[in-house]
Amino acid sequence: MALIDELRSLLGEAHVLGPEKLSLRDPGWCKTSQAAGLLVRPADAAELAAVLTATPGMGIVPQGGLTGLVEGTESHPGQLIVSFERMNRIELIDPAQGMALVGAGVTLAELDAALEPYGLMAGVDIGARDSCTIGGMVSTNAGGIRVLRYGMMRAGVLGLEVVLADGAVLDLTSPLMKNNAGYDLKQVFIGSEGTLGLVTKVALRLFPRPKAIATALVGIAPEALSSFMPRLRAALGDDLAAIEGMWPACYRYCAASQGLTRLPLAEGPGLFLTLEAFGPDDQTAREALEAALVPALEDGTIKDAVIAQSEAERATIWRIREGGGLIGSGGEPGYHYDVSLKLADLDPYVQALEAACAGLEGVSVLVLGHVGDGNLHLSLMLDGPLHPREVVDAAVYGTLRQFQGGSVSAEHGIGLEKLAALKAAQPAPVRAAMLALKAAYDPENRLNPGKVLG
Ligand SMILES: Cc1cc2nc3c(=O)[nH]c(=O)nc-3n(C[C@H](O)[C@H](O)[C@H](O)COP(=O)(O)OP(=O)(O)OC[C@H]3O[C@@H](n4cnc5c(N)ncnc54)[C@H](O)[C@@H]3O)c2cc1C
Repeated sequence: MALIDELRSLLGEAHVLGPEKLSLRDPGWCKTSQAAGLLVRPADAAELAAVLTATPGMGIVPQGGLTGLVEGTESHPGQLIVSFERMNRIELIDPAQGMALVGAGVTLAELDAALEPYGLMAGVDIGARDSCTIGGMVSTNAGGIRVLRYGMMRAGVLGLEVVLADGAVLDLTSPLMKNNAGYDLKQVFIGSEGTLGLVTKVALRLFPRPKAIATALVGIAPEALSSFMPRLRAALGDDLAAIEGMWPACYRYCAASQGLTRLPLAEGPGLFLTLEAFGPDDQTAREALEAALVPALEDGTIKDAVIAQSEAERATIWRIREGGGLIGSGGEPGYHYDVSLKLADLDPYVQALEAACAGLEGVSVLVLGHVGDGNLHLSLMLDGPLHPREVVDAAVYGTLRQFQGGSVSAEHGIGLEKLAALKAAQPAPVRAAMLALKAAYDPENRLNPGKVLG
């Protein structure tokens, strides 16, 4: 029987798509995601296991909401795409246990809408929330704007159901907070970008939704960041929910791209921080944020600050920050990066990168990031010669190597885009351990072949 017929007999005709139907689908952020020309939509782990058993040795490319930014969903002819879109059921919301059991294909926005009536949420929040799936977020260990408060995706995963390359189904969906019964296998699959196993179900820890959020925009000299952060943490404790940052050129670029002519802070001493603090009501949240900022203003640690007094003012502050997610979306040539460093190294790195780019004609550097997590998103815009990616990569990663402990990927993962950067940054024993893990879980190199390890 032809492969396509065999797959149709397993899943039903409607759930095996060939090249004609795939050409009509939105490829998402990786333009070659649909190039395999063959996609299956299993309903659950059992159907997915049957697909894997029926396609021995075939390369499998898992795809969630296709919002990944590092070409992790790229596929090519001869491979089989697995979509999780039919695994879109929220099976259980258990407020007493503080957990939900969710199909891998549920989007973050769908989950959030289902949790809202319970006054609960998943913690991690990212700009792609309407499309990204819980399975994709687990597989990339997504971060976002609330990592400071809730950690990355890994911190919220209580359990997983995973299908291995040989079709074995691992039920690791224990909802328990405490579970030291042998190796914690789920951790291996979180952040492995579909190269070790296929996530079909997720048990997630839930958190109370904040009752009120106060937002401030602060101007600070970059060298004051290291002393300001511990003071903020001490003043606000667990209510400190976000510290986002923008370097001046990026602040002005994003404000202009959002059509904002009157800026909440016109000028600053270097860095613009967006701060968020939770509270029991609007007034208390604002007062707590103010109490945290006033001493720092008085002793000159920060130079200026505005606290949003209304939802409209809050939205304006966030519009500038969210403008950062749109850099390059109008087709302006440039390359985009996601690195992390120690807090004290953030601005020295930016300065060193700008110096490294001074010799590259027409290259300008726009920097923003989840500063509280030491995470920078860099856009190197090309207003002149179209320098090849490798040339710009050399400036970004070469400069990063000058700072001990920096990472070539803070939250987006490796996919195909960062293979060379990861290989250059990894000590040989670390790489050997990763290759050994891959060989143990996927000896035939079937799962998302070529991604993460090359
Ligand atoms: C506007 C925008 C804002 C973003 N903001 C952030 C941010 O703040 N923080 C952040 O971390 N990321 C961010 N991202 C990146 C992206 O949204 C995340 O990486 C997200 O977790 C990907 O989820 P997805 O369902 O779209 O996965 P996909 O893009 O479909 O896949 C991502 C990777 O996971 C694998 N995969 C997908 N589903 C499964 C599964 N069920 N089992 C095994 N492997 C699977 C894929 O093969 C691929 O390697 C942003 C993206 C956009 C477009």
